[in-house]
Amino acid sequence: MRFSKKAVLAELEKMYPDAKPELNFSNPYETLVAVMLSAQCTDKQVNKVTPALFERYPTVADMAAASVEDVYPMVKSCGFKTKATNIVQACRLIMQNHGGEVPDDMKQLMALPGVGQKTANVVMAHAFNVPAIAVDTHVFRVSNRIGLAEAKNVEETERQLQKAIPKKDWVKAHHWLIFHGRRVCHARNPQCAACGIQPWCKAAKAEGGAVSTPKPQKKNATLDV
Ligand code: SF4
Repeated sequence: MRFSKKAVLAELEKMYPDAKPELNFSNPYETLVAVMLSAQCTDKQVNKVTPALFERYPTVADMAAASVEDVYPMVKSCGFKTKATNIVQACRLIMQNHGGEVPDDMKQLMALPGVGQKTANVVMAHAFNVPAIAVDTHVFRVSNRIGLAEAKNVEETERQLQKAIPKKDWVKAHHWLIFHGRRVCHARNPQCAACGIQPWCKAAKAEGGAVSTPKPQKKNATLDV
């Protein structure tokens, strides 16, 4: 079938009509912390640690006043100590520079320790409802396999997806691609035979089933932190 971005997006929407963030959060502070914890960690694991974490440190001010030594044991199962250090330090900077409110500005978010472009995009989209396409490992792999993007790095992928997808659908499309990457278009052994996108997918056509896993060439904070 002839490649059609419109058809691909329509099929993804049909496949994942309820696609939404799989992280649990209820305000910009919780969004920021949950997304920082989710780098190199599953959303499921993050969701296990955040209820106790947010109960003990319910606000930016509480987290800013915490010691890394106290926070780290609570988030240890989500990764290295650097994450706890970055979260505490980010909250201290938010107190110092933004009156305790998580900034709704990409540049200001990316000035916080441990916050790369992907994290900032997710926070902008989910905490502030600003259209954004966060390119994580799933979005990069799936969009470049399908042909929605044909890019070697995350920045270019983000730019191409912004052109290919109507702005009103950026946030939804981000979730469609993540859902598809987690459920069907796995990094190893993508389930092409069972995939609704297969009729249009450039990788499946070009490689006759032996689909490779595109990796960003340039090390970039978008697949961060
Ligand atoms: S056809 Fe295969 S490579 Fe293409 S999107 Fe589907 S699972 Fe991924």
